[in-house]
Amino acid sequence: MSALPAIADEWSAELSAQLERPVRVHFGNARRNVIVAKAHGRSLELRLNRHFTTAPPDVRDALVKWLRSGRRAARACKRLDEWIDEMSKTLGAPQRRPVKIEPRGDAYNVAELAREVRAACFADELPEDIETRVTWGRRGTVPARRSIQLGSYEFERDLVRIHPVLDQPAVPRFFVRYVVFHELLHAVVDRTEVPAPTRGRGKRRVHHSPEFRRREAAYADWSAATAWQEANIKALLRSARSGKPMRGARATLSAAAKETVSGAKSLAKVAQGWLFPDSLTDD
Ligand SMILES: [Zn+2]
Repeated sequence: MSALPAIADEWSAELSAQLERPVRVHFGNARRNVIVAKAHGRSLELRLNRHFTTAPPDVRDALVKWLRSGRRAARACKRLDEWIDEMSKTLGAPQRRPVKIEPRGDAYNVAELAREVRAACFADELPEDIETRVTWGRRGTVPARRSIQLGSYEFERDLVRIHPVLDQPAVPRFFVRYVVFHELLHAVVDRTEVPAPTRGRGKRRVHHSPEFRRREAAYADWSAATAWQEANIKALLRSARSGKPMRGARATLSAAAKETVSGAKSLAKVAQGWLFPDSLTDD
């Protein structure tokens, strides 16, 4: 049982009297915008974080002054800002749904691939249990459109997700292993080079630093993997969109074709940029 609706009624009545206009107050759990005020003609709709119900009287007064005079009520604004800052700290980190770790797919076990990659490339740089934080992404949650993100690394939870479209026999093992490698390289490099957040977008812009690019290019299967990517990207996208197995996968490339693609660094880079878009969250 919550007394919030009753308190909201009380606040609505009081604010209406103080501001001399109809005010409807709602309390909620919004963390980002703890005050949202919307005018509908003369009446005012006010959404407040529920912590306002415990605010001291001077904060409540400041809120009224701010609603009446806006930024002109400088002292009220300052008091309100201070209290919101303090209150936001007590809210703590947002709760997120726990992630189900599912490394075993139909065709590949990404934990096994992570174990291999760690041993081969990151022995002392990643914790031994890193494989327990590598999972297939959930199937069918986000429809693929023009591009596809084959893997992601989430810094906050130290979590690697691999796109389930790769979990099929038409995708060669070395390629899935490469995608696991790419994301684990984020786990290594992003630990020492924390990417700057992109302000105001709510998304962290990921960078592939020169150090990242250098180490990626040193990976044994790098040119074969980028060549496979280039040859099969369309089939992968079709498969991700339709949910049907990949058809027409070009499993092998001739040595000449491999030479051409891996020699053409810029082409490989284009494929890279497409598969691991820099602007996506926690890639
Ligand atoms: Zn990346």
